[in-house]
Amino acid sequence: MSLLNPSKRKSSSSCPVAEVEAFARTIPTDAPESDGTLEWDSTTIVVVQVFAGDAVGLGYTYTHDAAVRLIEDKLAPAVRGVDVQTDLSHAWHEMGSLLRNVGRPGLGFMALSAVDMALWDLRARLLEQPLVDLLGGVRDEAAVYGSGGFTSYSLERLAEQLGGWVEQGIPRVKMKLGRKPEDDPARLDAARAAIGDATELYVDANGAFDRDEAVEWANRYAKEWGVTWFEEPVSSADAEGLRYVRERAPLDVAAGEYAYVPADFENLLRANAVSCLQVDVTRCGGYSGFLRAAGLAEQFGLEISAHCAPQASAHVCCAVPHFRHIEYFHDHIRVEHELFDGVLEPQNGALRPDRSRVGHGLELKA
Ligand SMILES: [Mg+2]
Repeated sequence: MSLLNPSKRKSSSSCPVAEVEAFARTIPTDAPESDGTLEWDSTTIVVVQVFAGDAVGLGYTYTHDAAVRLIEDKLAPAVRGVDVQTDLSHAWHEMGSLLRNVGRPGLGFMALSAVDMALWDLRARLLEQPLVDLLGGVRDEAAVYGSGGFTSYSLERLAEQLGGWVEQGIPRVKMKLGRKPEDDPARLDAARAAIGDATELYVDANGAFDRDEAVEWANRYAKEWGVTWFEEPVSSADAEGLRYVRERAPLDVAAGEYAYVPADFENLLRANAVSCLQVDVTRCGGYSGFLRAAGLAEQFGLEISAHCAPQASAHVCCAVPHFRHIEYFHDHIRVEHELFDGVLEPQNGALRPDRSRVGHGLELKA
């Protein structure tokens, strides 16, 4: 297959990308945080701006600040001069090609994701459209679930956070577990007491268990606390293990947050590893990659759930028919409020894109 050469396809209204800028910010968490397999005390966001005429497109990802240099050295040269109205798909493939020997999955695709998001935002802004309309919206709002419940939290903090989301009108919450499994029954008791019986309760082990441990806990979670979603019961690198748990557990098994390139999603789907496919727009190749992953899930008869980065996810999730929810993640809620104007607040448990704003509606604060 030969890709069209963008230099031959300039439209009369062409407004090529003149410059690409990237920077990183590291923002401390509001308390020490941990899950089943990791501890952290800060979050790093890498922000990309693409400039064309008077318009600026904004994208971002959550990763190491080394992505800034990767964007400047490897990706920016492929993006300068691109006409986003005609060449966006070409730019996506070109960036992927340039990352071949650096490594596409992981840091490479996180950097690419931020640039792709910025290019789509720029395209919508040049057309003076909200992004959701440009992507082909099928709904006006996207359901969210509150996500946090770190294993480092006291029972009081856990109850306060999860209960707070329910008070905000969000009828679904997720907590971390699996760090000290013997502590989890008391944590689950506290969570269920705080959120009431009507709220959906999800858990995420971040790959902390082996296969049989995971099956045993899955049955207890479902029967004793009414848990309906078990995320990464085993490592998501173990697609066979996910399927093993899924076939023996009376709840949904979810994974996909560490899927980057399209083949990563296909591998999970072909293994029948998940009941709902998680897709992270800041990792999977931006909006271009997100729509590809969503299309793949649809072929396997599955819904998708957006992993983290809620503000980056809202518009594109309104353009996916077989969509379940967006992860409204504590750390990213804080970072996105700190850096951006135009942040959406959940109303009745959903994010509703603001169609009076162009692009994804986010602006970098001064
Ligand atoms: Mg997770």
